[in-house]
Amino acid sequence: MTELRSLPSVEKLLQTKQVAQLITKYGRPLILHAIRETLGGIRINYAPQAEKTIPERTTILEQVKHKAESYTQPTLLPVINATGVVLHTNLGRAPLSQAAIQAMETVACGYSNLEFDLSSGKRGSRLIHAEKMLQLLLGTEAALIVNNNASAVLLAISALARRKRVIISRTQLVEIGGGFRVPDVMKQSGAKLVEIGTTNRVHLADYELALQEPTALVMRVHRSNFKLIGFTSEPDLQEIAQVAHLAGLPLLDDLGSGALLMTERFGLAHEPTVQESLTAGADLVCFSGDKLVGGPQAGIIVGKADLIQKIKKHPLARAVRADKICLAALSATLLHYLKDEAENEIPIWRMISTPLGQIKARARNWASEIGNGEVITGLSTIGGGSLPGESLPTWLLALDVGNADKFLAKLRAVNPPIIARTENDRILLDPRTVLPENEGAFLVGLQCALRKK
Ligand SMILES: *Cc1c(COP(=O)(O)O)cnc(C)c1O
Repeated sequence: MTELRSLPSVEKLLQTKQVAQLITKYGRPLILHAIRETLGGIRINYAPQAEKTIPERTTILEQVKHKAESYTQPTLLPVINATGVVLHTNLGRAPLSQAAIQAMETVACGYSNLEFDLSSGKRGSRLIHAEKMLQLLLGTEAALIVNNNASAVLLAISALARRKRVIISRTQLVEIGGGFRVPDVMKQSGAKLVEIGTTNRVHLADYELALQEPTALVMRVHRSNFKLIGFTSEPDLQEIAQVAHLAGLPLLDDLGSGALLMTERFGLAHEPTVQESLTAGADLVCFSGDKLVGGPQAGIIVGKADLIQKIKKHPLARAVRADKICLAALSATLLHYLKDEAENEIPIWRMISTPLGQIKARARNWASEIGNGEVITGLSTIGGGSLPGESLPTWLLALDVGNADKFLAKLRAVNPPIIARTENDRILLDPRTVLPENEGAFLVGLQCALRKK
């Protein structure tokens, strides 16, 4: 058929059995949209001089079906992380514990006492839920949960130092990733950033000098994603706190990853813990919920009750507040620490603490299942802006596949997609970050990618 008028009408297509089936599956408005787009596409491409023909009705119906499928395919999909980067920011950072998932489901399914005081029957505060857990865990006076750590920093500075001076060392002007810079976030608060020291060195005297002018806040930002080595010096947190307190000012410590466990227990460098910051005299400490805490995306602020009270009252607190699902997941995650079971229950800690022998056994099992590859030693990393340069020894399945980049693309095309890394043109697969419950799907996907030409 070469005539445009032989193109079936929308009405005609609606009368077909195939379209009726599609409508049952996807609903009428979506299928109407798919039909109109399909027919429109054909009309646009139709060129009689080029003898471009009108497709058969079955082809048109196939296109409609294909469009309907593509419209309804979610864009946010689970993937299998075989990179060995435990907190992969692009892959959603921390997977949640079973208890956290259960808590989210319970709260999502119905109503809750999110802001309702069950004893008085009056309005309550959503902030008490995770706060209680943090008070028990850290002995902190108060706590506040917001959307993420960047908003925690923005909120704290907005509430405490708007139009006033905030002192920060040049050794700590961190860019987090994705182009987000802590100093830019700080400036958004309307505070006047006062940078002191140099890129590699800052002294207590720099703080003392800066504090001679009226100031609202002293800030410390943890260098969570890079290391400063060589000719460097920086007072420790306790000394900075003393100088700030002498001037009658609070110290805000942005810890970023906010470890609640001693990372050296797992053969890693020591990541400063929230407890240590509080003990050293930080009046406020803020950190992420989904980095080394291993919970949902959240910003956690802990510290002095009077300061937290001031922050809670700021209008931005309402704008960046955490939702009930986050609060449920975070409380359940924190409870693992309180019960001293974080290492077994929180996926990121389970991955970090997996014995090497177990990783090797899994890599060997993969090799024998697919009948391919070599089991070699390698390194897993923590990632997510935590423990820069730190790695854990691991065992990897290495595959020689010809064109490594092409094979990576094949792995991304299986369902669920597998994300791997390459080194010297070899594909490296790290069992550490492949969740045991995903192992079956992982092996099927891997074999599928290997079969594809
Ligand atoms: C990661 C990080 C942030 C931002 O935390 P998000 O929870 O990702 O918003 C802020 N400050 C530091 C030092 C960080 O490492």
